[in-house]
Amino acid sequence: MQELPSSVDPARFALCADAIAEAARELASLGWTPATSSNFSMRVNGELAAITISGRDKGRLGREDIMLVDMAGHAVGTRARPSAETGLHTQAYRRLPHAHVVLHTHSRTQSVASRLFAREGAVRLEGWELQKAITGYTTHESVLEIPVFPNTQHMPELVERIDAWLDAGKPLHAYLIDGHGIYTWGADMAEARRHLEALEFLLACELDLRVYS
Ligand SMILES: [Zn+2]
Repeated sequence: MQELPSSVDPARFALCADAIAEAARELASLGWTPATSSNFSMRVNGELAAITISGRDKGRLGREDIMLVDMAGHAVGTRARPSAETGLHTQAYRRLPHAHVVLHTHSRTQSVASRLFAREGAVRLEGWELQKAITGYTTHESVLEIPVFPNTQHMPELVERIDAWLDAGKPLHAYLIDGHGIYTWGADMAEARRHLEALEFLLACELDLRVYS
């Protein structure tokens, strides 16, 4: 049972929880969240985010499967356990002020691409019209670099690598984790979904190129 702190408007929490659950169900129906994997979150206010509870079937998510965490990733007002990867969501909210929704999925395309491009440390997307689906990109001639970080079960290590990328001043719209999946975000659910769908498509195209060329 989620108890709401006085700083959270119940209508706001309901709106966030419903939006997360709906997105999760739709992404699950595409096969991008196999075996209860993947996690999704949304900023509720400056201090708190709503996030999927660990281990739930993402194809059957409802409002009761969403919980509150603070920006350090600790549960707020519930005994439920947030996803093991909550630290990556709260890092995005701390480091990227424009990010209000974070989506993380494990599709087959994302998983295969992460293995293939891990050697190079990044996927370099160039020449694809659909790069324009990423906010800030206005031409296929630009280069969209998606880093691939090594997988680990020790989240602080990943947080450190992502911090280092950001501290180096490099643009970051999404990242892959080797053998694992993708993280991306947006100013709202629609933008985050657009980014995720565009990246899934672009990664599939890059994989196809390696088969056909
Ligand atoms: Zn994951």
